[in-house]
Amino acid sequence: MPTEPSSFERAGASRPGSDPARTAESRLGAVSSLIDKLDTAPTPLHDSSDILAFENQLVQVRLGIGSSLFAALRAKHAPTAAHSLRVALNCSAWGAALGQTEKDRDELEIAALLHDIGKVGVPDHILLKPTKLSPEEFLCVERHRQIGCDILRACTASGEVLRIVKYAGAWFDGARDGYDLRSEQLPIGARMVAIADAFDAMTSDQVYRRAMSRERALAELFEFAGTQFDPRLVQEFCGFISADQVKLQSVVCRRWLKQLQPDATASQWRLTTGTLSTGSGLSDSLFSQKLLEGMPDAVIFVDSSLRIMHWNRAAERLTGIPSSSIEHKHWSPTLVALRDDRSRSISDDECPVTQALRGGGQSQRRLSVTGRGGQQVDVDAHLLPIHGKNGVTHGVAVLLHDASSQVTLEQRVHSLHEKATRDPLTQVANRAEFDRFHTSAVQSHLERRLPFSLIMCDIDHFKRINDTFGHQAGDEVLISFASLLRRHCRAGDLVARYGGEEFVLLCVDCDNATATRRAEEIRAEVSEFPLPALEGKSITSSFGVTELQSGDTPETMLRRADRALYQAKENGRNMVVQLGSGIGGEEAPAKPTGWFAWLRGETPDQVLQRTLGTSMPFNVVVEKMRGFVADHHAQIDAIDDNHVALKIDGQNSPLTRRDSDRPVPFVIELKFDDTRVTPAAAAAAAAAARLVRTVIHVTIRPQRSRDRRRRDVLDRAQRLLASLKSYLVAQEYKAEAGEGAAAAAEGSAPRS
Ligand code: GH3
Ligand code: MG
Ligand code: MG
Repeated sequence: MPTEPSSFERAGASRPGSDPARTAESRLGAVSSLIDKLDTAPTPLHDSSDILAFENQLVQVRLGIGSSLFAALRAKHAPTAAHSLRVALNCSAWGAALGQTEKDRDELEIAALLHDIGKVGVPDHILLKPTKLSPEEFLCVERHRQIGCDILRACTASGEVLRIVKYAGAWFDGARDGYDLRSEQLPIGARMVAIADAFDAMTSDQVYRRAMSRERALAELFEFAGTQFDPRLVQEFCGFISADQVKLQSVVCRRWLKQLQPDATASQWRLTTGTLSTGSGLSDSLFSQKLLEGMPDAVIFVDSSLRIMHWNRAAERLTGIPSSSIEHKHWSPTLVALRDDRSRSISDDECPVTQALRGGGQSQRRLSVTGRGGQQVDVDAHLLPIHGKNGVTHGVAVLLHDASSQVTLEQRVHSLHEKATRDPLTQVANRAEFDRFHTSAVQSHLERRLPFSLIMCDIDHFKRINDTFGHQAGDEVLISFASLLRRHCRAGDLVARYGGEEFVLLCVDCDNATATRRAEEIRAEVSEFPLPALEGKSITSSFGVTELQSGDTPETMLRRADRALYQAKENGRNMVVQLGSGIGGEEAPAKPTGWFAWLRGETPDQVLQRTLGTSMPFNVVVEKMRGFVADHHAQIDAIDDNHVALKIDGQNSPLTRRDSDRPVPFVIELKFDDTRVTPAAAAAAAAAARLVRTVIHVTIRPQRSRDRRRRDVLDRAQRLLASLKSYLVAQEYKAEAGEGAAAAAEGSAPRS
């Protein structure tokens, strides 16, 4: 493709010869010879003024009030005006030879006469420059097409005239910048003017080169047929130009002078109110065109009748389908073997392009198309319906982004995630995923004070199963057991393999009672489920259930469930044991802040001092204390009849965002008192529907004196107190002035 201005491109800008007057005169010879032959010529023409008058007559009948435009062009550059008249006469005669309708010829003639009208906007120093134009000057000459369109847009009533002028400079193969149409899309008039224009420019003397012979000019036309010019029309033009042109042109002159009605001519003109372009139109369309062609993503324009209007280079690269073979075809998903994200073929009816046309809005979807090599390529498809100002849908712009590398990445991330979070044998979550999920669920349920339960289960006598049926059968049992647990999951729950033949089911927003019932259902189903791996025999399993409670850490909750499971095993297996008080019905723990402590007069040394009351008798309280000690991994430091001192290392204190990582070891001193409950206190408690059988004086302080000044130490102590209250099902107890009146702290209802 020639990038330099070709001789044709230069030819559009005809310049005066060395003697403008003589050249103009000689150029009008053709017209004069025509006139001589016109049998109806009013008078014989003898000199150039006669010729000019005749030319004016022709132009006036042809252009009517539009003649002033021609006059302006002649005033700017007479040779260009003369050239335009010849091009018009040639085009008209050629149109007649092609059998064009009167209307088509009317439009073609006017467009040809005025195709160079924009030259009035090209500076003289460029228009008259005898040497080679610089690229900038060439661009300036090129602007005449846009200027011409602007001039005509303001006064012509014919859209087709405008289109012919607009596209007369376009190359047939679409290679010339600034044009959105190519080949057959270009108006036929524009393709004809392009040929007649070039031919006339080549066969006329130009300031920068002498006129070529007709043969040379025709040879040049053929050389550029298929690239710059419509090859079929070049062929036809060749036939036409070889015929008796004078005769043909005389027919045109007769038509103009004799047949054109002033009304018909006038109807081609009207004042239009469209805004004039700022001259940047060409650049704008150039930018858009470059953007579209340079885009790495496929861009396809489909009009409202589903005709493919544009298929950019990236679309060609993606699909391997050249634009020339697909443009103007009817869009169908089968053209590119469009499939959805599950690789199912998309029918015409489900086609997102059709849906976007039918009034869908902008949308984005993962689809796939058949790629260049015949393989399926994943694409992110962006569909953009194009609406006019009046809301009419003109078509759809389809953007296809090759997502294959992204898909491989997504797949790799997915498979890595699977590996990191799943147990390879049973496909339920692994221990690491369980820990992550459990920690965040404990945190969020404590914050929202919502129930959350943990079911820990273990297959009974699994070792025997392995021993009897083999390890492979054991594996299959594990797989069946895990999938049964999965079937019992609710939305948001998690099943994990905790280890060997031990599984956990985390039940979100689920209390102790419900979790126990669910565990019981699982237990019953497992015990009745015949396993092929065990020759139709079933297995049994044991369950420990617990609900999250105040002061819990993930560890205390897990250890409590484990204790419950242990009890189920101890009590004979194939059963469900539930432990823990749960979160429901408890008072919300006081907001722990250092300022509260100060207001309460708590000394830094003691940190936290409370009296708790519980309805449980002392012996049961002691039993519950065992659970607290076990789950908190507490050490018993000192013990006597009604007093115990515990040490807690603080390793497993519940993590909150405010906590620093360093653990705070605590000493908890407890003094149990079931004699303080006076008859008056008992009466008060009964009146409050609350029976306090055991009173516990609690002191919680950090073991290390350096921890006493830590800002979070009180928060941690508060959580230990909350945990203690949960284990002992105790509330704060106030025995005032020796009266021993029982009262719940912060007025919350007691647990039933
Ligand atoms: P209990 O009722 O007290 O739970 O008795 P048990 O035999 O089920 O418990 P124990 O902990 O004594 O034995 C568990 C066995 O589970 C031991 C181990 O070989 C087996 N095991 C652990 N992981 C796997 C596994 O992935 N596949 C198979 N087939 N066996 C496993
Ligand atoms: Mg077991
Ligand atoms: Mg076990």
